[in-house]
Amino acid sequence: MSQPRSDAIVLLGATGDLAHRKIYPALKAMVRRAGLDVPIVGVARSGWNLEQFQARVRDSLKVRTGDDTSAEAQKLVGLLRYVDGDYQNPETFARLKEALAGAERPLFYLAIPPSLFGTVVELLGSSGCAANARVVLEKPFGRDLASAEALNATLHGIFPEQSIFRIDHFLGKEPVQNLLYFRFANSFLEPVWNRNYVESVQITMAEKIGVEGRGKFYEEVGAIRDVVQNHLLEVVASLAMEPPVGYWGEAQRDERIKVLRAISPFTGQSLVRGQVKGYRDEPGVAPDSEVETFAAMQVHLNSWRWQGVPFFIRTGKYLPVTATEVMVSLKAPPQQVFEEPIPYQSNYFRFRLGPDQVAIALGARTKTPGERMAGEEVELYVANLTGPAMEAYERLIGDAMEGDATLFAREDSVEAAWAIVDPIVKNGSPVYRYEPGSWGPREADRMIAPFGGWYNPPANGARAGSRPG
Ligand code: NDP
Repeated sequence: MSQPRSDAIVLLGATGDLAHRKIYPALKAMVRRAGLDVPIVGVARSGWNLEQFQARVRDSLKVRTGDDTSAEAQKLVGLLRYVDGDYQNPETFARLKEALAGAERPLFYLAIPPSLFGTVVELLGSSGCAANARVVLEKPFGRDLASAEALNATLHGIFPEQSIFRIDHFLGKEPVQNLLYFRFANSFLEPVWNRNYVESVQITMAEKIGVEGRGKFYEEVGAIRDVVQNHLLEVVASLAMEPPVGYWGEAQRDERIKVLRAISPFTGQSLVRGQVKGYRDEPGVAPDSEVETFAAMQVHLNSWRWQGVPFFIRTGKYLPVTATEVMVSLKAPPQQVFEEPIPYQSNYFRFRLGPDQVAIALGARTKTPGERMAGEEVELYVANLTGPAMEAYERLIGDAMEGDATLFAREDSVEAAWAIVDPIVKNGSPVYRYEPGSWGPREADRMIAPFGGWYNPPANGARAGSRPG
């Protein structure tokens, strides 16, 4: 199902933070790996000219990749064009259309404030820029279910669904793809990957850093909108989905949406929100803010495979480490054969999803030498990889140019994910305080106590982290 490749890239938000941190390094990698050679048009309203834009891209390459002089860096700079103008002004798009003369299938990347998505999409349509084009939208896609539905309606007035690429960069991450590969390339997993053998599933995305001066942005978002509605629900879908009939786009996306539809909307009982002490003193944060910097929740999947298996999701800023891990704990052996009891949940699958390492490990017990039939926990490594992997943004921009939406969120899955979190982002729930550098409020520990407590991932994923007790 090969489709014509995009023959120009237009980056709206060319002067922004995301472009500097992720997009220019990804484009350089695409020049090196894939021979990218299409025009790249930056658009912003800074009053810049092409030389200033080129200097900004060089700065990004230098700061983020340590190289702005190699052949590929120079080639990338040579591909750049620049259009200056405000996104609310139709003339900007008339100039953009001129700059795109000769391009038949441009790719528009909207790395701009989400409040401008609708306006820009409409102006891309009315200016004629959208004909045969593709559009990539950054997260967040809406603020709640109603705004996501409205944005989808605006988009569909201009672009067909197969030309719309909603970024969730977690789907482009190597370890998340490895998780899917591990599940569906091995037959030994399937017999235990269900409610008969799995006791519980935990997903922790911990960040040591705080809001880092972006308090004003974070006040509009909070942890649930920022990472649960998108990244962490996609991880749940990757863990829980049925085998797709193939790897191509809709086959996989059809299975993901079924998982999201099987999750009931969150209620106050299945959720703990936390706010770190001192957050209200951050610049841009309201002195009486109730925005959560931490969230822990329990998800139930109403499905044949997973009925009764709790999925716990936890995320927060100002935590002890930066790490994202999944812990799938298996049930205990049915009988205690040995005098020394087997500890709870000592068989497990552990997936390290970041920040620096892809690891998949199996927790097991082996006998320690000696007379006694007593043992210790060991980890069997299935994968333990460090080193260069394709960055998510390189992968995703490349896929969007090819028209391959497999790793992008579909209209129905974005709306299903919002439907899950909608009741709590709208109505709120109590916010408990926690100490910076702790694992969040005690209320979150109480929620999971009947299931052996939280598994806390380590800073370095080469070994398993800790559980309480
Ligand atoms: P910034 O505020 O740093 O950049 C916004 C860009 O939009 C700038 O280039 C700015 O141009 C331009 N812009 C804003 N308003 C207008 C306007 N009216 N007319 C023309 N240009 C305008 O935002 P980020 O780069 O941080 O974020 C961009 C998108 O990426 C957002 O959707 C965000 O949620 C998402 N995102 C960002 C991440 C990050 O780490 N930064 C991570 C994940 C997603 P100018 O400078 O000229 O004003």
